[in-house]
This record gives sequence, C-alpha cells and structure tokens, in this order.
Amino acid sequence: MYGEIKERIDALKSKGHSLCLAFVLLGNDPASEVYVRMKDKKCAELGMGSTTFRLPYDTTEEQLLRKIDELNRDRNIQGMLVQLPLPKHIDEEKIINAIDPMKDVDCFHPQNVGRMLIGNPLFLPATPAGIQQLLIRSDIETAGKHVVIVGRSNIVGKPLAAMLMQRGKGADSTVTVVHSMTGRLADITRQADILVAAVGKPRFITADMVKDGAVVIDVGTNQIDDPTAPKGKRLVGDVDTEGVKEKASAITPVPGGVGPMTICMLMHNAVTAAEHAFNTDAQK
Ligand code: NAP
Repeated sequence: MYGEIKERIDALKSKGHSLCLAFVLLGNDPASEVYVRMKDKKCAELGMGSTTFRLPYDTTEEQLLRKIDELNRDRNIQGMLVQLPLPKHIDEEKIINAIDPMKDVDCFHPQNVGRMLIGNPLFLPATPAGIQQLLIRSDIETAGKHVVIVGRSNIVGKPLAAMLMQRGKGADSTVTVVHSMTGRLADITRQADILVAAVGKPRFITADMVKDGAVVIDVGTNQIDDPTAPKGKRLVGDVDTEGVKEKASAITPVPGGVGPMTICMLMHNAVTAAEHAFNTDAQK
C-alpha cells in the first residue's frame, strides 16, 4: 500500500504541488507523543511534508479553536489531525466539528462519518479502513460472511460495522456488534466467520469464544506488566493469541497487525486530502 501511496505523492509533486499534513498535539502525554512521532516519521519516509504544532496542556478551548481555524484557512496545509484524547477542559466534539471536513484525515467529522454511512465516503476512518484492507489484501472473503465486532466505539466498532455492511469489495457482510451490555457474548462470538476484537481488555477473547477456522482481527493495544520484558511492560492485544491461533484460520499479531495498517490508512487519507485540495484549486 505504501508503494501505491508513494506513487500518488510523487505524481502530485511532479506537478509542482507541495504536500503538508498538520498534527496538533496538546500537552505531553507520552502515548500521544509516540503516535505523532510515528506519523511524522512516516510522512518523511514518503516524501510528504508535515508539521507538528505542540500546544501547552493548559491551552484553552478557544485558543485551540483559533488554531484549527488558522489551519483550515491555510492553503499550504491540505490535511490535519488533532491528536486525541484532549485534556478534560476541552470539548472534543466541538474541536472535531471545527475541522474543515475536507482536511479531516482522521474522518471523525460528522459530515465525513455521515458520508461513510451512506456509502459515499470522502475519507474512511483509519483503523477500520486498515482492517478492511487487511481482509481484502489477504484474500479473505467478506461477502455473505458473519462478522462479529466486539466493541462499539466511534473510532473502531461503529464505523467498521458501517463499512462492512456496505455493498462492494471487502464488504457485503452480515454484521453483529456486541458490547458490555450484550448477554451470552460467547454464544455470539462463536458464530463469527470473522471476529474483530476492539475491547481494550488484555486477552479478552479466548479460544472457547472462537469458531474453528474463523478469521480473527485483534485491534487491542494493552500495556501489561511483564518482568521478563526489557522495560518491565509488554504490548498485548484483546485476543489470547496463543490459545486462539490454534483454532483461527488467520489472525493478526499485536504488535504488528492493525496498528501499522492504521498509520498506512492515515497516509492514504492525507494524499486523498491533498489530491482533493489541488483538484479544487485547479478548477477555480
Ligand atoms: P473503547 O472506546 O474503550 O471501547 C471499548 C468497547 O468494548 C466498548 O464498546 C465497550 O462496551 C466494549 N466492552 C468493554 N468491556 C466489554 C465486555 N466485558 N464485554 C463486551 N464488550 C465490552 O475502545 P476503542 O477506542 O474502540 O479501542 C479498543 C482497543 O483497540 C483498545 O485497546 C485501543 O487501544 C485499541 N485501538 C487500537 C488502534 C490501533 O491502531 N491498533 C486504534 C484504535 C484503538 P460499552 O460501549 O458497552 O462500554
């Protein structure tokens, strides 16, 4: 996929366009710092410009809205994202709503979410889009398959359900979404041809919850204590991989599965935003 993205970037650059993706980061949350650094590094590898605005933790909502307005109007920036989570004193919804939908590479703006739901997307949210591409590019049939998604968050479970129920490639699935209020959860997960775990609980999905031959997608990223690990901590998914891999026909690793695909799809969205911006400019 990076090969395809690089070709699109090079095509824009050969026409004299310069691309720039903006990251806005508040405070110094270590995880957010790591995510922004990874995205920034990937931009550099692909030859796409990027700029990070580091604002203090006590930035007010009004100041952040002003920054977003500035970036919305800046024609040198075609895409932006505000790294979540934001400090408690800032209303996340207000911030997401303020981003120009054409620059909203995270695909969190209600307009972009609505477009995705009706099957006419401008962008797709990066984590679910990464999962869909994993399935497509691993030649895993989704049409007519029963996909069970554990988790109903706005960034993973809900959009993934919306995407997989659409008509078309990597979709046409029958989707069930389960969550913390679902009864007899394992009875449902055992019916899945494709089981997606986005729960945020280490090794939540165990072998007895999985059908023989199911495809298992592990979205979880959980830090657990591990005295044998170099830093005393280790990253594990929401799936008990050791047990489940004996039953699954395919399974994504953690780390190394959905996480890298998420960054890849973000880059894909950044190029889409740039193509859009330059096309719009050309039509003016
Ligand atoms: P979230 O917003 O915390 O949502 C978790 C979901 O799991 C909720 O819908 C919750 O149900 C459900 N849940 C919790 N306990 C449950 C239980 N006992 N039985 C059934 N359902 C249960 O999480 P998220 O943002 O979707 O993230 C999920 C995981 O994916 C986290 O580990 C996160 O770090 C990881 N993640 C990874 C990437 C990546 O790029 N690799 C991207 C995003 C997220 P309720 O709605 O009823 O509370």
